[in-house]
Amino acid sequence: MNINMKVRTAILCMTIFAVALTGCSIKKEKPEYKRDVFAMDTYMVLKVYDENGEAILESAEAEIKRLEMLFSVTDEKSDISRINGSGSAQVSEDTVKLVSEALVYCEKTDGALDITVYPLLREWGFTTGKYQIPEDKDITALLEGVDYNNVTVEDGTVSIKNGGAMDLGAVAKGYTSDRICSLLREQSVSSALINLGGNVQAVGTKPDGSPWKVGIEDPKDNSRIVCSLKIEDKAVVTSGNYERYFIGEDGRRYCHIIDPKTGRPADNGLVSVTIVGESGTACDALSTALFVMGKERAAEFLEKHTEIEAVLIDDDLRLYITDGISENVELSSGIESTVIKRQG
Ligand code: ADP
Ligand code: MG
Repeated sequence: MNINMKVRTAILCMTIFAVALTGCSIKKEKPEYKRDVFAMDTYMVLKVYDENGEAILESAEAEIKRLEMLFSVTDEKSDISRINGSGSAQVSEDTVKLVSEALVYCEKTDGALDITVYPLLREWGFTTGKYQIPEDKDITALLEGVDYNNVTVEDGTVSIKNGGAMDLGAVAKGYTSDRICSLLREQSVSSALINLGGNVQAVGTKPDGSPWKVGIEDPKDNSRIVCSLKIEDKAVVTSGNYERYFIGEDGRRYCHIIDPKTGRPADNGLVSVTIVGESGTACDALSTALFVMGKERAAEFLEKHTEIEAVLIDDDLRLYITDGISENVELSSGIESTVIKRQG
């Protein structure tokens, strides 16, 4: 081999090496940035795969804190406290949007979701931690004021009639996860997973292009999951009776989701409801509402609403999975399931 050939071979090798390197850099996964946030009375984990991850997480956390200050029922300066305090208040655009959207789901679920159950939550002690089983007459009296039709939204002002009080606890985290995911997409993030205390929402896929796997906790044993679910670009929201509850003097379990028809914690055959869909707000509203409806009514609702998917878990730990996601669910060992068929 003469010198000229050696040079040509070297150049060829370098070119191949350079092409290989470029190929590598295209395939190279984006770095993971992770942040834990405590807000809205819950632990949140944000994971973003992007070179600008740190700055993006900073803006996401600031947005969570901003929304928390608007929707909190305990902070007396929040939009919700100002509405509850004087019956009517001029509020931010986000509060107008969230209250309006929540009212749509109150109507759609025939009042299983009702943002005016707040006085009952307070009476049962869920807002104060001073848990008690109220007397029947107190429940009946407080139920008089529970009706989402008492809430109106007009020109940036939210009003509630008849001395009622509202609470957005059933939908606030869903709205927040929608906002965070839009914020991430605006910043060109193509891969992120956020978990706002049980409200999971994904942007795109995992950085390697495969779907995210989201586990659904075993309501009777938080050290394991009953199944995992493959998703892309979706929200997965769970409501259950196993995280916020108290055991009454009668030995029964009372959870923080109130049935607006009875004024008592919902106990209608389900221990957990997971809703999967495009909108975090819708999934949050419906996970709470279907928990209230209970097994039969929730299954009927799902038969009519094919735009959402669900995993219901009943008292016996049997899973009911809608047909649109049943193929994406992997059951843990010993777990039995039934598919809710909706097409043809
Ligand atoms: P979590 O907050 O545990 O994720 P949910 O999304 O199901 O659970 O919301 C439960 C919260 O919603 C309660 O803590 C309370 O603030 C409020 N709430 C309880 N029952 C109802 C109801 N029937 N309709 C609307 N809001 C409710
Ligand atoms: Mg909810």
